[in-house]
Amino acid sequence: MRRTVIAGNWKMNMTPSETKAFIEALAPMVAGKDKCDIVLCVPFVDIATAVEAAKGTNIKIGAENIHFEEKGAYTGEISAKMLKEIGTEYVIIGHSERRQYFGETDATVNLRTKAALAAGFKAIVCLGEVKEERLSGITNEIVRMQTKLDLAGIPAEDLKNVIIAYEPVWAIGTGLTATPEQADETCGVIRECIAELYGAAAAEEITIQYGGSMNDKNAAELLAKVNVDGGLIGGASLKTDAFTAIVNAANL
Ligand code: PEP
Repeated sequence: MRRTVIAGNWKMNMTPSETKAFIEALAPMVAGKDKCDIVLCVPFVDIATAVEAAKGTNIKIGAENIHFEEKGAYTGEISAKMLKEIGTEYVIIGHSERRQYFGETDATVNLRTKAALAAGFKAIVCLGEVKEERLSGITNEIVRMQTKLDLAGIPAEDLKNVIIAYEPVWAIGTGLTATPEQADETCGVIRECIAELYGAAAAEEITIQYGGSMNDKNAAELLAKVNVDGGLIGGASLKTDAFTAIVNAANL
């Protein structure tokens, strides 16, 4: 059975001291909620503090990006080895904000995913259509193409460490949420594509999250869908009560 993963994406929010206070408050609220994995992906400077604060809890810590080279002249970038040494377990790759504002492409998403897997991280690979693509009726083609390009050359044995986050770009940070039916259908298309690439068993196993304005009000309906195996949550992951409500919805 595939795991449900509820992951927060803090984006460019929270200082180290705020991180410590947040995790200390959240930990007792989500203690024992073991029907899902609980992850907080935080800014690089918060990771060490987050790992320390989450020790002995069921909260795991992730980064929001990773560079694909081992080291060298890549000013401003962070390597797998750096992330590993401070206790990072998960890495978000190819978030739409990276694609939109920082020139991330499917080719660099693929390189970063390979680097993350080689270093033993769980890679949360984000993909999804923009508004015009949904309106033109080409969502399925877009997510199939992204799935193929983002996972190109990744061997079947590494797929157990890949989580796909289906994030329609028009729903991220906008308050617009895909309907449960849209989320289920498109996560299903991605799953079919995984089946074509890696076989039916791998497709059954892989965790496919939905992300895009998931919150305490809509989480239960979205998570009830057969192809939705969790959520990647931005805004609502910055509030302990909203994030806990989403974790609770995954533990019904
Ligand atoms: C995200 O950052 O991946 C996200 C889905 O953000 P939000 O929940 O705020 O839409």
